[in-house]
Amino acid sequence: MNILLIGSGGREHALAWKMAQSPLTGKLYAAPGNPGVAEHAEIVALELTDHAAVVTFCETQRVGLIVVGPEAPLVDGLTDSLRAAGFSVFGPSRAAAQLEGSKGFTKDLCERAGIPTAGYVRAKSLAEARAALTRFGAPVVIKADGLAAGKGVVVAMTMAEAEAAVDDMFDGAFGSAGAEVVIEEFMTGEEASFFALTDGATIVSFGSAQDHKRVGDGDVGPNTGGMGAYSPARVLTGELEAQVLSRIVAPTVKAMADEGMPYSGVLYAGLMLTEEGPKLIEYNARFGDPECQVLMMRLESDLVELLLACADNKLSSIESPRFSPDVAMTVVMAANGYPGTPDKGGRIDHIPAAEATGARVFHAGTALSGDGVLSANGGRVLNVTARGASVKEARDRAYVAVDAISFPTGFCRRDIGWREIEREEA
Ligand code: ATP
Repeated sequence: MNILLIGSGGREHALAWKMAQSPLTGKLYAAPGNPGVAEHAEIVALELTDHAAVVTFCETQRVGLIVVGPEAPLVDGLTDSLRAAGFSVFGPSRAAAQLEGSKGFTKDLCERAGIPTAGYVRAKSLAEARAALTRFGAPVVIKADGLAAGKGVVVAMTMAEAEAAVDDMFDGAFGSAGAEVVIEEFMTGEEASFFALTDGATIVSFGSAQDHKRVGDGDVGPNTGGMGAYSPARVLTGELEAQVLSRIVAPTVKAMADEGMPYSGVLYAGLMLTEEGPKLIEYNARFGDPECQVLMMRLESDLVELLLACADNKLSSIESPRFSPDVAMTVVMAANGYPGTPDKGGRIDHIPAAEATGARVFHAGTALSGDGVLSANGGRVLNVTARGASVKEARDRAYVAVDAISFPTGFCRRDIGWREIEREEA
């Protein structure tokens, strides 16, 4: 079967690597891809907002499955256009992707379905927002309603910070994403990510992970897309995972189906493990990046069989996903300047030496010149990923591989997994 993979990050390199191992995969195409994805797929130049062009490509190349990695094409309805043309597509419809695309939509759905999450108010004007702040008091969380690439959330510890944040949002700091604002009660606890695959009716667990959002060691500095992750997240015990499935994910999938927006694809739940049990922070309608890289390192099942079963509403007829009991860790190597303006063009060498240690190096923002020189072409550049029997072993192996790579204009965090390693050593 021919497959088209949409996306260009480390997530898509990991998906391409895993899909290329499946006996079901015929020709693998990718758009826009990256030099790492190109090791497993033929890169095709497709304008992803031109849905008719993507449909024509799939018809011409007899594509049997389209896998959509990032959120933007989901929220733009690419999956709807492809499904309407009769294709099997992994990824939710535009309506279902509102679970990620509109925080207010998700909060309302949680309220209707009784799903545990932070108390909230949707505010469409500065006056409404200010009134909500007075009601909640500090600390309080302020979120732009729409997609803001991880930057639309302010956790305000004081009322002054909170007021400044709502002023900024209604002043257009996030464009149309901030035309509506969600004010949320502040929750405390440890965060973890849980992944489920669903075809809209059947739901299967697809593992857990913990991410590191801040740019600096010790979780300091500005937020990023993610500087490293490991899987599984042991804080999410079997008992807590069962609660997440029964109290959060299953009622969500049921409510979406009941309301005529069946959700199919991967549902990524960002959770706060509070004293009252797990609560939903947010949903994403796609695999996390870099969480996907660690999930793919541990996945033992045939990824293509799973994604196709989601797309074709046949998840109940195949075996549930199997994962290695090993821990996988990924360390993000970023270009200096990230998450501000990253240095572009820095040379990268010795990836084969890093992979000779047993690690896998997934490409995110890289470019390959005609004479074979690899360079940085984005903020997050490489995801150096290793497995081990413990978080510590996975971490040690990942950093041996990091140190084999030459990337003088890049940096990485040195403490990925610190929280779990402290627990392992306690
Ligand atoms: P964007 O939509 O801009 O991409 P995001 O999807 O990353 O942002 P969230 O995951 O909702 O936004 O929030 C980002 C972070 O803010 C969370 O990982 C968590 O640390 C913190 N946070 C969000 N909501 C709450 C809350 N109610 N209480 C405490 N912390 C919160």
